[in-house]
Amino acid sequence: MVTAEMDMAGRTLYLPRMPFGGSRLLAAAFHSIGFDARVIAESDARTLELGSKYTSGDECYPQKVVMGDFMRLIEDEHLDPKTLAFMIPTANGPCRFGQYASLQRVVLDEAGFDEVLILSLTSADGYAGIGEHARELIRTGWRAVVANDILMKMLLKTRPYEVTPGDTDAVYLEGLETVAATLARPNVATKEKLADIKAALSRVKGAFLSIPVRDEDRPLIGVVGEIFCRLNTFSNEELIRHIEAQGGECWLAGVGEWLWYTNEEQFRRYREEKRRVSKDWLKTYLTKRIQLGDEHALMEDFHDVFHGYEEPHVTEIMEMAQPYLPQSGSMGEMVLSTGGTVFFHGKGADGIVDISPFTCMNGIITEAIYPKVSREHDNIPIRVFYFDGTQSDLERDVGIFLELAATYKRRKKVVRT
Ligand code: SF4
Repeated sequence: MVTAEMDMAGRTLYLPRMPFGGSRLLAAAFHSIGFDARVIAESDARTLELGSKYTSGDECYPQKVVMGDFMRLIEDEHLDPKTLAFMIPTANGPCRFGQYASLQRVVLDEAGFDEVLILSLTSADGYAGIGEHARELIRTGWRAVVANDILMKMLLKTRPYEVTPGDTDAVYLEGLETVAATLARPNVATKEKLADIKAALSRVKGAFLSIPVRDEDRPLIGVVGEIFCRLNTFSNEELIRHIEAQGGECWLAGVGEWLWYTNEEQFRRYREEKRRVSKDWLKTYLTKRIQLGDEHALMEDFHDVFHGYEEPHVTEIMEMAQPYLPQSGSMGEMVLSTGGTVFFHGKGADGIVDISPFTCMNGIITEAIYPKVSREHDNIPIRVFYFDGTQSDLERDVGIFLELAATYKRRKKVVRT
């Protein structure tokens, strides 16, 4: 496992956009424990050029984008490697995701940039890269995740209906800064910080609700898929904006879902290793209780506006996936995407979009399963959109899909709340 050495002094930590808002708030959480953290600049053609230069072509598209973005800082901005640290998420799982951090390390070393640190947050090592502030960061970081999921939900349920284009994006971006300022304050007691975040979110909620909107009846599209490609708007070529431009509204599976899923996976491992009564199990259990409490506290002020948009707990999603992908043999986003599809159908969605990188193992499996899922759920339209940075006729494909969703909307049996 690759982790940072403890000494981050004099370094700036760069975070990939996953999504931008989530990374912005996570950077603020890092600020609260004294780290200089920033979100990497928006990806562009140079990202793909450098991503191609430093990967072999066998890697997943998200790896190419992350690699390209990081190498751009070194090659184009000529930042001193001694002042740099890159954060790369990692997880145990069935696919290549767990190898990203190791590969980035190899590439940096071979290119002569061995002084760049890689911070790879993982519970497997007790978040060793963070040092003494690990617990504090994990708590604030979780609140950042929940806060962004809330703001993203407000963004997506408002933007398609705005009267003046750009209003909702502006409120979202300002809202991020409002919440980030609260998250970034150091040495604040956890209770007080929670109250501050709630107050900040409440102000942003008011700003969202004051945006003039049209009364329209649009097809609701549930969005699932591989976590990076789904959340990184450069990788998915702003698919959600395309759907909105052609008359749809999207409900995007957030980041919190993945963290809850890794929690459940941890419990599954304890069961398999017969460590149900252990210190580690108790630690994970208590962490879960605390995180549930924080999530509930932050969400409760939004119950009125999220009526009909209530999020399931991940265990419900896993149960919904069970008939198609038994948990004893399947892991990762394929489970969440399949369960998420069944969930969205039950909430009255009019279509499901799965965003996956080309050749993604999860996308390949879910694509094989979706016809059965669709057949067993009123033939709801489900479509996998693959991305690899090459051009495709997205307008046309989205248009066709929305036609199917509109037809389904007229005949569907599950009415939306
Ligand atoms: S989920 Fe897909 S894209 Fe992501 S690492 Fe696994 S195989 Fe690659």
